[in-house]
Amino acid sequence: MNEEKDEQNNEQINSNSVDNTKVNKIIQNQSSDSLSVSESDLVSKRFSFNGLNNDKDLNIENQNNKEENQNNKEEKDYEILPDYKGDDFLSFKLIMIGDVSVGKSSLINRAIKKSFKSAYSPTLGFDYFSYYIKIKNKVLKLQLWDTGGQEIYQSLVTNFYRNSSLAIMVYSIDDRKSFENIDIWLKEMRTYSNPDVKIFLIGNKNDLEKKRKVDKEEGELYTKNNNIDLFMESSAKNGFNTQKLFIEASKILYKDYLMYKNKQKNKNKVESKNDEKNKLKNDDDKKKSSCC
Ligand code: GDP
Ligand code: MG
Repeated sequence: MNEEKDEQNNEQINSNSVDNTKVNKIIQNQSSDSLSVSESDLVSKRFSFNGLNNDKDLNIENQNNKEENQNNKEEKDYEILPDYKGDDFLSFKLIMIGDVSVGKSSLINRAIKKSFKSAYSPTLGFDYFSYYIKIKNKVLKLQLWDTGGQEIYQSLVTNFYRNSSLAIMVYSIDDRKSFENIDIWLKEMRTYSNPDVKIFLIGNKNDLEKKRKVDKEEGELYTKNNNIDLFMESSAKNGFNTQKLFIEASKILYKDYLMYKNKQKNKNKVESKNDEKNKLKNDDDKKKSSCC
C-alpha cells in the first residue's frame, strides 16, 4: 500500500541497485517499502489486476460499438485521474526507450506534472512513474519505466523489456541520428520483449520546425514498414500530443487486454466442452465393458 502511495506521488523510484550517486540519493530518500518494486513484479504477467477482475469486461463487441458511437458524438471516453488513490485498477507496464536527450523524461513530465524544464537533467539508469486513467468505467494504471538511454545501463534495461505491454520509442525530429538509431532500439526491443508487445514511435520536439532533420513522412513510412502500432509527432515543450500519447497507449492496451480475456474465455469453453465429451465417452466405454 505504501508502495502505491509513493507511486501515486510519482516520485522517482529506482528499481534495481544501480551504482550511481543519483540513484543512491533516490534510494536514501525513499522508505524501504517504496523500494519494493521487486524483480517478481518486473517478471510478472503483462496484465495485472488490483481489486475485482470483472467479467463485464469481456463484452468486447459492445465495448467497441460504444467506443465508435462515442467517437461519433465526439464525447470524451476517458478521464485522467491524477489523484487516484483507489486500489481497484488494471495495471500495465510501459517502457520509454530512445537515444539520450530526445525528450523521453520531458514527455512524461509534461503528461503527469504538466510542466517542462529547458535545462537538461539526464536520467541515470531508470525512473518510475504512474499514470492513472479511467476508460469505460475501468481504472487503468500505466506503470511508466523511463530509461536513460545510456549504454552502460542497457543490460539492466533488457529486464524491463520482457514484461512491458508497450514500448514507446522516441526520437527527436531535430536529431537525424536519433531517428536512425530507432532501428537499433526496435531490434533490441524485439529480441527481449514479449511477442505481443505493442510499439509506438514518437517524433518529439516538433516545435523545432526550423531545425527539423527528419520529415514527418519518414516517421510514418518507418511505422508502416516495421509493423509499429502508432506513430505521432509530439512536443513536450508546448504539450502537443503529449496527453494524447498516453491516452492512446491506454486505449490500445485496454483493447488488447479485452481481446486476451476473450480468447481465454473461448479457450476455457472449448476445454470444458472437450472434458464433457471425454467424460461421456468414458461413461459409455464403462457401460459397454460391463455389459454382457
Ligand atoms: P531524455 O534524455 O530523452 O529523457 O530527454 P529529456 O526529457 O531529459 O530532454 C532533453 C532535453 O531536450 C532537455 O533540455 C529538454 O528541455 C529538451 N526537450 C525535451 N522535449 C522537448 C521538446 O518537445 N521540444 C524542445 N524544444 N525541447 C525539448
Ligand atoms: Mg530522461
